[in-house]
Amino acid sequence: MKTLEGVAASSGVGIGTVVVVAEPVLEYESTTVADVDAEKARLAGAIEAFKELNTQKADQIRDRVGDEEAAILEGHNLMISDPFMVAEMDKLIEGGTCAEDALTQICEMFATMFEAAEDDLTRQRASDVRDIRTGVLCELLGVEEVDISLVPAGSVIVIHDLVPSMTAGLNSDNVVGIVTEVGGMTSHSAILARALEIPAVLAVADVTTELAAGDQVVVNGIAGKVVLDPTEDVLHSAEVRREEFLQERAALQQLVGKPTETADGIQVELFGNIGSVSDAEAVVSHDGEGVGLFRTEFLFMESNAMPTEDEQFKAYQQAALILKGRPLIVRTLDIGGDKDIPYLGMEKEDNPFLGFRAVRYCLQRPDVFKVQLRALLRATAFGDIRIMIPLVTGVAELRQVRELVAECAAELKAEGTECNADVPVGVMIETPAAAIMADVLAEEADFFSIGTNDLTGYTMAADRGNDHVSYLYSTFDPAVLRSIKRVIEAGNEAGIMVGMCGEAAADPLLVPLWISFGLGEYSVSPSSILATRAAIGDWTKAAADEVAAKAMAAKTEPEVRAILESARKG
Ligand code: PEP
Ligand code: MG
Repeated sequence: MKTLEGVAASSGVGIGTVVVVAEPVLEYESTTVADVDAEKARLAGAIEAFKELNTQKADQIRDRVGDEEAAILEGHNLMISDPFMVAEMDKLIEGGTCAEDALTQICEMFATMFEAAEDDLTRQRASDVRDIRTGVLCELLGVEEVDISLVPAGSVIVIHDLVPSMTAGLNSDNVVGIVTEVGGMTSHSAILARALEIPAVLAVADVTTELAAGDQVVVNGIAGKVVLDPTEDVLHSAEVRREEFLQERAALQQLVGKPTETADGIQVELFGNIGSVSDAEAVVSHDGEGVGLFRTEFLFMESNAMPTEDEQFKAYQQAALILKGRPLIVRTLDIGGDKDIPYLGMEKEDNPFLGFRAVRYCLQRPDVFKVQLRALLRATAFGDIRIMIPLVTGVAELRQVRELVAECAAELKAEGTECNADVPVGVMIETPAAAIMADVLAEEADFFSIGTNDLTGYTMAADRGNDHVSYLYSTFDPAVLRSIKRVIEAGNEAGIMVGMCGEAAADPLLVPLWISFGLGEYSVSPSSILATRAAIGDWTKAAADEVAAKAMAAKTEPEVRAILESARKG
C-alpha cells in the first residue's frame, strides 16, 4: 500500500482501476523512402486501421450520445477515403517522401484550402482534416490514443493534465475518480470534475509514473489522497467514508425548496455555474435559483468547428427553457489562457494569461463575437438572459460591447426577429484594473460578478495552475480580500447586483466574509449549491461581522486562514 498526496479538488471517494492516459507523442524522423510500394501499403494499412477504429467509436457514440455526433466520425472516414486525397499522398511517396510526411503535407494542404473558403461549413472542415491527420499518424507510429469517453466502468483516470478540450468526453457513469500531476482547486479540470461530481485529487507529483494501468486505487477527493493497493482495512474505511459522504449529500436535500438566507433572515441569491446545457438541469435538480455563470467556451471546445448562430441560439434557448424563468447569466466567449480552441487559429503567445484572450479577442474578432451576441439576443425571448463580459479591465470595453449588442439588436429587429435590446450587460471583476475601477464600472454595468479564480491569480501575480507558486495563489490573502470587499461595497453603493462566481463563493470558511461584505449573489458548481445554502444559514450578520473584523485586521494569509478556521461551523 502507498499513499500519494495532492489537492482535494472534487469531493467524494472513488474506488476503482487506474487508466493512465498518455498524451500521444506524435514525433517521428522524416526519412527518404526506398521501397515505394511497401510505404504506400503502410499508409493504406494505417488508413484502414484508422477507419476501423473510427467506425467502432461511431457505433459506441451513437448508442451513448447520438446520431449527430456519430455522423461526424463517419464523415472523417468518408473524407480519408477520397481517391484524390489518397492519390496525392501516393504521389509524394513515389517521389521518396515517407508516409508520415505525405499524410501531414496533404492534410495540411487541404486544411489550408478549406480555411480560405467563403462559407462556414467548408471552413469548419479544416479541423476535421487535422483530426484525421492525428488519427492516421497515431496508427502509423503505433501510438494508442485513449478516448476518455470510452473507458470501462469503474475507471480512475490518471493523467498529467486534464485539459478542457479532453474533458468533453468525461462521464461519471464510467469514471469514478480523476488524478492529475498538475492543476489546483480552480483549474478547469477541477471545475469540470466538480460539475460531474467525480472525486478528484490534483497536483500529485509524478503520478503518471507512480501508478500503472490496472492498479487498484482509492481516490479520496475530500482529504486529497490517493491510496495505491489499499489493504482490506483501508478499503473498508474508504467504503465507509464514501457512504458517509453520500449520506451527507443526501441530508442536504432537506434544504431543497428553502430560501437561501442567513440565520437572521438576510436573503441572498444562490445560483449555479454551468459549462453546458445539460448542466442547467443539474442546477435545477440541486435547487439552484438560476445560473450565475454559463461558461460558453465549453460549447466551442466540444465541437470541431465554431458553433453557428443557430447552434448557439439553440443551446442558450434550451438552457433558458430548462431554467423556466430563473436568471441565466451567460458569459461571452472566454478563450485564451489555458483554454485553446484549435479551429480559431489563435497564435501561441509568451504570456497567454496576459495576452489576447476573452473580451480582448472578442472585440477584435467581431465576426466571431457578433455571432454569439446575435444568438444570445435571440434567446432573450425565452427567458431572463443576462450577458456577462469576462476579463474586463475598464469601462471602454463595456461600452464597446454595448455598442455591438445594440448593433446586433438593430440587425435582428430589421430582420423581424424578436429580442430584448435592453438585455442586462454585466462585467466580471477578475482583473486588478477592474477591481480598482469598480466605482466607475458600477456606474455603467448592470451587475458585477467577482471572478475570484482569476482575480486571485492576477492580484497575487501567481498562475492558478502553477504548483511552484501555489502558496501565493490564495483568496485568503489580505490583498485579495481587501480588493473583494471594495468591489462589493462599490457595487452596493451604486445599487447594482454584486455576485461571485469564482470557486471561493462555495468555500464555507470564506462565507462569513462574503456575508459581512454584503455579497448579494453566490454562484457555485451545481453539486455545491445545497452545501453553500447550509453554510450561509449557519451565520447571523452580527457573527459574520465579528469574524470579518478579525480576519481583515490580519496581515498575512496564514493569519487570516487561522482566524477563519477557528470560526469554522459544523
Ligand atoms: C473566475 O475567474 O473566477 C471565473 C469564474 O472564471 P473562470 O474560472 O472560467 O476563469
Ligand atoms: Mg476567469
